[in-house]
Amino acid sequence: MSNMVRICPRCQSTNISPDLSKEAYGSGKIFNSYKCNDCDFHGEFFPEVDKKAISKIKK
Ligand SMILES: [Zn+2]
Repeated sequence: MSNMVRICPRCQSTNISPDLSKEAYGSGKIFNSYKCNDCDFHGEFFPEVDKKAISKIKK
């Protein structure tokens, strides 16, 4: 069990999905690429934070 949740580094959204785009697939980074469903930011750097810390980050 984990209290960690992945967030978007740009908009701090927790609405994140694995990035299954062809680019990610082709580069072999499918396992650590993510996409934000809110601002469309995608990349590998999606930090995991404690769920309890989210309330501090979010406005
Ligand atoms: Zn975002």
